[in-house]
Amino acid sequence: MAKTEVEVRTGQCPVHEEVEATREIPALGFPYAYYAIVRARAKRRPFVCPLCGKPVSFP
Ligand SMILES: [Zn+2]
Repeated sequence: MAKTEVEVRTGQCPVHEEVEATREIPALGFPYAYYAIVRARAKRRPFVCPLCGKPVSFP
């Protein structure tokens, strides 16, 4: 099964204020070209609040 890496960053949720926002990035696997694309796409997604799932902003 594909693993995922979770990136964590502290940001401002519009509802909960300061939270540890997370973003899941698929771990590299085979075929590498496929995962390179999937990871690049995942890294463009916003970090989201773990409590409400809203995108978090960074001051
Ligand atoms: Zn929130």
